[in-house]
Order: sequence, then structure tokens, then C-alpha cells
Amino acid sequence: MPDSRLRYYSRLAPFQRLFDRGVPILTYHKFGPRPRGVRLRGLYLPRRLLARQLREWNDGGFESVTLPEAVRPTNTRPIILTIDDGFRSVLEHALPLLVKHGYQATLYLVADRLGGDNDWEQAQGEVAAPLMTVAEVKEWLAAGQRIGSHTCTHPWLTRIPLAEAREEIQASRKKLEDAFGIEVKDFCYPYGEWNVMVRDAVEAAGYATATTTDFGVNTTESDRFALRRITARHTSWGWRAIRAWWRR
Ligand SMILES: [Zn+2]
Repeated sequence: MPDSRLRYYSRLAPFQRLFDRGVPILTYHKFGPRPRGVRLRGLYLPRRLLARQLREWNDGGFESVTLPEAVRPTNTRPIILTIDDGFRSVLEHALPLLVKHGYQATLYLVADRLGGDNDWEQAQGEVAAPLMTVAEVKEWLAAGQRIGSHTCTHPWLTRIPLAEAREEIQASRKKLEDAFGIEVKDFCYPYGEWNVMVRDAVEAAGYATATTTDFGVNTTESDRFALRRITARHTSWGWRAIRAWWRR
């Protein structure tokens, strides 16, 4: 396990060596200013911080690729961007920057919640945040970005009966394909929760990849249905971070 400075990505320097060992997949959630009362504050990434990350990767010679490339041999420096849940703030704050800097991200959608909100987070005391509508997802796709499935209702797949988990995995793919008229081949486990049975259900449903929240990079040896990711989030302003910032 990496030390605490390496748990969350906020800038490239500490991650250079790790990124040399495999393909990084970055995880994002929400962008822009944080509304009042938010519990998981670190999951909101300010626009300027995303802009800085995209510039750093461009300057570092990284190339934006899509999920199946995570386990393919490569001579380049690939990087993969994923965004969980499909919040509307992605469209407003992240899409313009992705387009400007030449990045293609995969947005994992909760199929039964399009145009709704984060009810699964609110059940745990989080403030409401709107999710993209079908029309907004079409706008996202028209801008050259990608989508994947994040189930129908965002359950803990390992805590519900396997038959229900299978239904969440299969039906969400079908619903998204019907709504948007494209193939949906990438899956993301809600809360990063998975086990062998859930993993096998994802493969059986016809997906090509699945991402977890297990920390690390990916190689040709990695399981396509248990891809590792690194959460990109706002730096926490503890004393160490403030001192480092002051000395920059
Ligand atoms: Zn999620």
C-alpha cells in the first residue's frame, strides 16, 4: 500500500514512477464549486485543478486512451480518465476542458437515475446533486466522449442476492444501449465493491472491462474485469500540504 501522500492523485510528480509501471486509470466524481453542507468534500474537483492535471499529462507526454487499452502492450504513455455516476457538473465544468486539451473520458452512468439525482448518497446523509438527463448525455457523446454502465440503481453488488446483481449488471447495459444507440462495453462496480461471482456476472453480460477502486496501475497481466484505479481529488489542506505549498 502506498503512503498517505500517494493515496489520492492531485499532481503528477509523486506518481511518475508508479505511472512508469503500468497504465493509470484516474477516477473522478464531481466538479466545480462545492455546495454547502457536502460531506465528502474531496470528491469535488475545482475546474482549475482539473485543467492543471490535463496540462501536466500533456507536458509529460501522456496520451488519452480508452479502457480496453489498459491491458494492451504499449510503447506510448497512455492515461485513462473515468468519471463515476454521471453528475451534471461534469458537463458544465469538465467537458470544455477535456475537449480543449484532447482527452476522451468514460462516464459511468446509473441507468435508472438519468435526469434524477444521487439518492444512494443522500441515503447516507449527502446533499442532493443532479445527474445528467438523456439529452445531456447525448451532448456528452456528441462531444466525442464515452459512456459505461454503473448498474441501474447503484447498489452494493456484493450485499444483494446474486440474481439481483446480475439483473443490475445486464439490464443497465441494455437500457443504456437502447437509450443512446451505441454499444456499452465498460462497467464500473458501485463503491468499488466486487467479488468473484459479481466479476463473473460482468463478464457473462458481455462487457469488455470493469473498474474497481482498488489502488494501482494496470498491465497486460491485469484482470480486465478488476482494473485498478487512482482517485483524483482535491488535496487536503493539512499542515504538511500547507507547508509544502508555502515553500513552492
Ligand atoms: Zn458510483
